Amino acid sequence: MLKPPPLRNDCFALPAGVDWAPVDQALANLRDRMVPVVDQEEVTLSAGVGRVLAQDVTASRSSPPYANTAVDGYGFAGAIAHESGVVTLPLVSGRAAAGEPFAETVPYGSALRILTGAILPKGVDTVVLQEDVTTDGQQIAFHGPLKQGANTRKAGEDIVAETTVLTKGRRLTAADMALLASVGVDKVCVYKTLRVGVLSTGDELCEPQDSPRKGQIYDANRPMLLALIAQFGFVPVDLGIAQDDRDQLKAALDQASEQCDVILTSGGASAGDEDHMSAILRDTGSMALWRIAVKPGRPLALGVWKGVPVFGLPGNPVAAMTCTLIFARPAMAVLAGADWHQPQGYLVPADFNKNKKSGRREFLRARIGAKGVQVFKSEGSGRVSGLSWATGFVELSDEAQAITQGDLVRYIPFTSFD
Ligand code: AMP
Ligand code: MG
Repeated sequence: MLKPPPLRNDCFALPAGVDWAPVDQALANLRDRMVPVVDQEEVTLSAGVGRVLAQDVTASRSSPPYANTAVDGYGFAGAIAHESGVVTLPLVSGRAAAGEPFAETVPYGSALRILTGAILPKGVDTVVLQEDVTTDGQQIAFHGPLKQGANTRKAGEDIVAETTVLTKGRRLTAADMALLASVGVDKVCVYKTLRVGVLSTGDELCEPQDSPRKGQIYDANRPMLLALIAQFGFVPVDLGIAQDDRDQLKAALDQASEQCDVILTSGGASAGDEDHMSAILRDTGSMALWRIAVKPGRPLALGVWKGVPVFGLPGNPVAAMTCTLIFARPAMAVLAGADWHQPQGYLVPADFNKNKKSGRREFLRARIGAKGVQVFKSEGSGRVSGLSWATGFVELSDEAQAITQGDLVRYIPFTSFD
């Protein structure tokens, strides 16, 4: 199986002259430039759920493979019952059941006991429901008319042999297991699961089990990002906390690039004195500081460290989560071999009023209430409690300026990102 080439060093470069990129442009750039970075492997079907298909899958057999009955009843040649009136047919001895085909031909004008899932024997193209029949064991009687073909399933009516049932890039669901099994697929070619490293950066950070010194805060981003990675179906790799020290950061990225396919860092991503992450990425020549017209959001520092893409997220937890869901999530889907990920949003009446600047996309922490979608009382991007309160985002378009209670707004549940 082929190993994909590494990402190009300039994969995050912005077109010349772009200063503030609209969200759609930032997303279009990621969509264009990201490619799968993981190897492929073959796994048994049962190990395939949640994995991303690396090749299209073709049905080796039709489903159903043979015409069969959809109900328990009596089968016969339908031409005899196409008119209204009482139909009386003698019964042939024997029966057809699922997995137990009837080997002989049913003569025209006779009927055969037939049970759900049984192949239609020669001479049978129509089945009458047992509830609609009276019988003495020798013959049956029912009221016509009955449409020819009634209560039967045609061969291949669901899936035709040799057609593509699932395409490359599909993340396999539980229902896909049934689909693939039903056409005799027992092995699938999938991508290896993307390994995503999560590194927090900042001299002020400590672990929840530590006793904080004055000026220290607990690292909230790392547990959140590790959990999101797992929810996306990737392998989270905990890279710990790095101080605001360039040598330490470089060592952390060196180690991370050996174990991970992509690295998410938080903190130190802007252009200030203590923004070491963007500084060391800049030294690689691969860095692009994306100023995206989005709130909450600070610049995203994107770069490639020893061939591994790095998403330098803002330190504020709200901005870190928003940027992860909106930008890193779909990019990582492509890195993992999957189709571009478009979160599903729904139009819901606003249960709030708000004015905003035009020319900037806003993602508000939101939850559904009785009168529509509500937003968190504060927009401060350090307020972790609002993230936890929310069940999704309200996405306000770049152009929107005034939202009045009752206006339809786009609500995106957090589960849409999984
Ligand atoms: P920075 O992006 O490094 O300038 O950080 C912006 C803000 O986010 C500062 O108030 C940081 O203390 C805070 N911050 C950075 N990293 C984390 C983290 N892992 N958990 C909680 N807050 C953080
Ligand atoms: Mg910092």
